[in-house]
Amino acid sequence: MRPFAYRAPTSVGEAVALLADCDGRARPLAGGTDLLVQLRHNQLEVDLVVDVKRIPELSTISLDSVKGLIVGAAVTCARLCEHPGLREVYPGLVDAVSIIGGTAIQERATVGGNLCNAAPSGDSIPPMIVLGATCTIAGPQGIRTVPAEAFCTAPGVSVLGKGEVLISIHFPAPTPSSGASYVRFTPRREMDLAVAGAGAWVALSADRSRIVDAHIALSAVAPTPLLVGAAGDALVDRAPTEEAFSQAASLAQQAARPISDVRGTEAQRRHLVGVLVQRALRVAVSRAKGRNEG
Ligand SMILES: Cc1cc2nc3c(=O)[nH]c(=O)nc-3n(C[C@H](O)[C@H](O)[C@H](O)COP(=O)(O)OP(=O)(O)OC[C@H]3O[C@@H](n4cnc5c(N)ncnc54)[C@H](O)[C@@H]3O)c2cc1C
Repeated sequence: MRPFAYRAPTSVGEAVALLADCDGRARPLAGGTDLLVQLRHNQLEVDLVVDVKRIPELSTISLDSVKGLIVGAAVTCARLCEHPGLREVYPGLVDAVSIIGGTAIQERATVGGNLCNAAPSGDSIPPMIVLGATCTIAGPQGIRTVPAEAFCTAPGVSVLGKGEVLISIHFPAPTPSSGASYVRFTPRREMDLAVAGAGAWVALSADRSRIVDAHIALSAVAPTPLLVGAAGDALVDRAPTEEAFSQAASLAQQAARPISDVRGTEAQRRHLVGVLVQRALRVAVSRAKGRNEG
């Protein structure tokens, strides 16, 4: 690995100044489970690594029944899995963070790092998208927010500009009778990236007979994690039936743009999208029904 300088600022302002000063050759470091692998394999060369884990705003979890959930960018997957009450309110997010790597990886890996790495297979990104999350970014020009679905722009590329740091991700408070889930396919249960993944969020009518809103997002089947608006829209005003799920799954298959690589073929991935979207919808609907059942 090529040598680089290491700094660990304790404020957002200091981190932004360090990153902005380095002519594009500085990178934030959270858990390092992507960054250090890329540096070690010389996929990336940097002069400076800026450790963001000592910045308080990036390390907090705030859960409020009205304001929703704010997850600091440097919060680890393990902390989210262990948080009392989070699984009950945001099970779709916990579905994803509890399958990233294995236990050891989850102790280091962060949701912010998963998002900023912008891999098409990033497991936490479809839940962020379907839950309507927004990302707060600090940079030399100040603070801005970006919807999760617009954050990743190409494989390994995001909206982050020079000197910008992701501070946190905000998830709105769940609406009544809503539920979310994330499922993926991997050949091995642990320590493998998704061949394909699907996140679903549904909101049901008060009597739970109809879907009033729905979002579907996919991983590992397009250059970026993908919100499939048509699949969610097709579910609105329908009963939550297998037929409706199957039609939404077909629309997701049509929207997917998978490639063939070492983990799977294009045809296998497209088939998986159909299966996974239906599974994700079944779980999301059952959670939506369960939330108000006392
Ligand atoms: C064995 C193994 C198994 C894995 N399994 C999975 C898996 O199942 N699913 C999955 O999705 N991923 C998996 N990964 C990939 C990785 O663990 C995750 O993407 C993880 O969430 C990255 O988080 P991190 O904190 O380690 O990020 P880092 O490696 O610290 O950073 C990743 C990228 O994000 C940037 N970054 C980090 N924080 C910020 C910030 N606050 N602002 C701006 N930029 C930032 C870094 O500069 C870097 O470019 C695996 C990795 C390994 C090594």
